[in-house]
Amino acid sequence: MTTPGDHPAGDRPATPRLTRADLEALPSYVPGRSPADLARELGLPEAVKLASNEVPYGPLPGVVEAIAEAAATAHRYPDMGVVALRDTLAATLDVDAGRIATGCGSVALAEHLVRAACLPGDEIVYSWRSFEAYPIIAATTGATSVRVPNTAGHGHDLAAMAAAVTDRTRLVLVCNPNNPTGTSVRRAELDAFLADLPPTTLVVLDEAYREFVTDAEVPDGLAEYGDRPNVVVLRTLSKAWGLAGLRIGYLVAQPDIAAAVRKVVTPFSTSAVAQAAALAALRQADEVRRRCDLVIAERDRVTEAIRKVVPDVPGSQANFVWLPLGDRSVEFGKACEARGVIVRPFPGEGVRVTIGTPAENDLFLSVAEPALT
Ligand code: PMP
Repeated sequence: MTTPGDHPAGDRPATPRLTRADLEALPSYVPGRSPADLARELGLPEAVKLASNEVPYGPLPGVVEAIAEAAATAHRYPDMGVVALRDTLAATLDVDAGRIATGCGSVALAEHLVRAACLPGDEIVYSWRSFEAYPIIAATTGATSVRVPNTAGHGHDLAAMAAAVTDRTRLVLVCNPNNPTGTSVRRAELDAFLADLPPTTLVVLDEAYREFVTDAEVPDGLAEYGDRPNVVVLRTLSKAWGLAGLRIGYLVAQPDIAAAVRKVVTPFSTSAVAQAAALAALRQADEVRRRCDLVIAERDRVTEAIRKVVPDVPGSQANFVWLPLGDRSVEFGKACEARGVIVRPFPGEGVRVTIGTPAENDLFLSVAEPALT
């Protein structure tokens, strides 16, 4: 059935309405642009991508071979129960496998959690600016976003977040360390925050960057809070474990919550190749530690160097640094790109720069320093 309003031009056929004002108002997730395209555009032999928080050292030893082997079963559906991987994670993390759900990246698990926990109009509280997927997840699941502004130091204001919780709040997201600012919440603050919340509110500790944390005061959410009935810990194999391209993450929660998430997961969304690669990667914990230590040393070096020109760069516990450049952010991003370095500007707020290899970081610093002085 059509109404006159469907045909403003009078002669166009009616088409399905896919326009929702709330979605139109939503910024799209911005992926880092392709370095190959930029290099071609600039006529350079190569460009450097420091925009997506990847670790620059390639797949871990044994991963490519595991992928090749799993590729031979590509005509078959994967194990939907993800049994071998969940068992391995369970043994590594010392939790029951029934408490684990895997998904197409931890971003998908965050979405599944919200879908499992929220009905339209239910509220999700999170700090802002934080991971850009949170508002998209809220809007697409019909939940209402309650954004609590970051502190002046670019971190979570946990007291304000606790105060924003109402009887309509189903879920609170704590991004620790926070993307894109690299800040982290410490044990005493998180203890007080968790004690403040009603036990019926689900607290999701998004620890995508946990492996890069060096501050002993920043708690391991799984070890320290994972057994609480209202806590869910999200982790990913995309960053430290080098599997961003295969899309695999996991969560640890109480068995009923993990089961609810497994129910709403898109069937077969953890591919056989991703499962095999994850199993191979998990055998490389020592190499992961070695690589993370390289990234951490570089993070600290880049932070110190960049603070000479941007003194208010917050300390980062992740594999990126945040330059709070405000109105200069887009212009700075363009200046870097013009020299073959792709960073991630957030217009009007700041620029996130992923830590790369020492040579990539040197290139970034050589571009950034003159652009900022
Ligand atoms: N959480 C945070 C805080 C992130 O920054 C990211 C990736 N940018 C994710 C979750 C999702 O990572 P993935 O889906 O690759 O596991």
